[in-house]
Amino acid sequence: MDILIYPHPILRRGGKPITEFGEELRTLADRMIEAMYVEGGVGLAAPQVGIEQKLLVLNPSGSKDDRSGELVICNPKIVRKKKKEFGEEGCLSFPDIQADVERAVEITVVYQDINGDEQSLKCDGWLARIVQHEIDHLEGVFFVDRLTSGEKLRVKSQLLELESEYKARA
Ligand SMILES: [Zn+2]
Repeated sequence: MDILIYPHPILRRGGKPITEFGEELRTLADRMIEAMYVEGGVGLAAPQVGIEQKLLVLNPSGSKDDRSGELVICNPKIVRKKKKEFGEEGCLSFPDIQADVERAVEITVVYQDINGDEQSLKCDGWLARIVQHEIDHLEGVFFVDRLTSGEKLRVKSQLLELESEYKARA
């Protein structure tokens, strides 16, 4: 399963609501979880693998040896946000770029699980940050869109490099 790299246009399209829950979705989620571990990420959203659906997978440990925090989240919506803090983020679609991003510290997200059942998750800190980062992907929003002007300037040359690499491949 290949991960799309910025500025691949599908990344900006985000995802459409999932209406069918079944074997196909389960297989997709399993493959995304596998790809996330292979690439060394803590989260992956379906648009990052070229699939325009509101599906994301995550595991805050990022480790196949500790799968207790694994989550499959469909059609998420953040219904509550509290406090804000800056923290460092990276993204599998933006290789080698790390930057400080301001996120809510505590969130409540409602979503459907892999069976289509309604769930509510209240979380904070690192998990809340991952959830917010991945939900952004479902809206076609990138962590680099949320940087302060100073951070934007700092990563600009790396973004331009990714853009020229993409052109060279296309
Ligand atoms: Zn990302």
